[in-house]
Amino acid sequence: MTENNLINGQWVGSDSGATFEVHNPATGRVVGRVPDAGAAEARRAVDAAWNASSAWAGRPAIERAQMLQALSARLAEDREDLARLLTDEQGKPLAEARAEIDYARSFFEVSAQASALIRDETPSVPGKKIRVHRRPIGVAAAITPWNFPIAMLAKKMAPAMAVGCTQVLKPAEQTPLSAIALLERAVASGVPAGVVNLVTGDPAAIGAAWLEDSRVRKFSFTGSTEVGRILMRGAATNLPRLSLELGGHAPMIVFEDAAVDRAVEIAMAAKFRNGGQTCICPNRFLIHRSLHDDFVSKLANRSAALTSGHGHDPEVVLGPMIDDAAIEKVEAHVADAVEKGATVVTGGRRRRVEGFQDRFFEPTVLTGCTSHMRCWREETFGPVCPVRIFDDQAEALALANDSDFGLASYVVTNDEERIRRLGDELRTGIIGVNDPGPAVAGVPFGGVKHSGFGREGGRWGLEEYLELVTVSAIDLASR
Ligand code: NAD
Repeated sequence: MTENNLINGQWVGSDSGATFEVHNPATGRVVGRVPDAGAAEARRAVDAAWNASSAWAGRPAIERAQMLQALSARLAEDREDLARLLTDEQGKPLAEARAEIDYARSFFEVSAQASALIRDETPSVPGKKIRVHRRPIGVAAAITPWNFPIAMLAKKMAPAMAVGCTQVLKPAEQTPLSAIALLERAVASGVPAGVVNLVTGDPAAIGAAWLEDSRVRKFSFTGSTEVGRILMRGAATNLPRLSLELGGHAPMIVFEDAAVDRAVEIAMAAKFRNGGQTCICPNRFLIHRSLHDDFVSKLANRSAALTSGHGHDPEVVLGPMIDDAAIEKVEAHVADAVEKGATVVTGGRRRRVEGFQDRFFEPTVLTGCTSHMRCWREETFGPVCPVRIFDDQAEALALANDSDFGLASYVVTNDEERIRRLGDELRTGIIGVNDPGPAVAGVPFGGVKHSGFGREGGRWGLEEYLELVTVSAIDLASR
């Protein structure tokens, strides 16, 4: 495969020829070298996207949809190669990497289907003929994180391509190879030069170059709240439309009517995906007093049994943390919780895995957690389950909502009346009710509060790349 950037249909290096290394987080080995590009290359990518935009927008929607479907089919064909590459640079177990390819494909499929539903509307206004037209917003920029390097790009590429926007893309520096591999498949599926462009390198310089370029009309970012704020400030001059998919701090509430075994099952599935490095992972467990001890003991037993190691090993469920800073943060959160009175029921330390980097952390369950602990307020992004007892529904909801973040939340209950009211009562963009995997391509995904704004998925995702134009006509002949 190439290890270059894609600008105007050409695979190119950085202007200076400089590259940076990509490492396997489990072995520490170099798995590739990609261009260390900056503002000049970023601007050239916008030139290419700008020049390609009217031809792409002018193409029949059905042709663009067919290209998305061709890309999805190619990803299916190359699923195994892509999954191996993803595991090599990101660390997640192969089974999860395969699931990520499938998830990414579903965005191309869903966006292709949803694009057929985009129509003008004609609201009735006396004396006028009104047409509300939807047109592609123009050149769209996207910056993505390392935790789902193919799916996060697919979530942005698919709707933009479907409606006729051209794009400039920057993947995370930890995982550019998966992004390049995805773009290679896009080119091979017939996507014309300039429609998608990819630049790797200096994040601040590339981001600033795109924000300073008035031709960029949409900026979609997935990553930390901290960087989201930097981008939002930078957007103040040219005012591109923003989508910010930022950090999360999901609560999971287990109500008194839940079956404990089922609740533990749901907790395991939601929490340990990607070693806890998932924006919608539960980070706070609120357990009704009557179930607490049973839940904690079963969760601790199940967690402690999870196998850590290299993602290529089929026995492995937990891969490494992405880098040293990530494992240091997990360690610091556990130390802070213990210092403030939490009890470590299981885990709490690094786990040595023979022959690999010191980047594995034991699945950890902490009880007696309180609101002033870092793990209760900040995203840990690791395999840590902080647990707290509640006595009634009002207390559980108040504790769940007591967070600056509002991406996802989880509830385990069978109480229909309670479920019906959750949409108004829980301040998050996504709510999983007995559902550990509420993120699917056909429905809106996104947060509220410091988790950002904008939605990806289904027709809602396409709307983010369209602008509304009201054409108000008076018929001269009738005057
Ligand atoms: P990050 O914010 O450090 O990096 C994300 C991207 O931003 C990377 O491509 C990085 O190179 C780039 N970046 C960094 N500084 C920049 C700058 N000054 N200007 C422009 N770009 C810059 O986040 P991360 O560590 O890669 O990912 C983890 C975070 O992403 C977590 O907070 C997680 O919750 C969040 N996330 C959110 C969602 C969601 O949908 N809400 C999904 C996945 C991850």
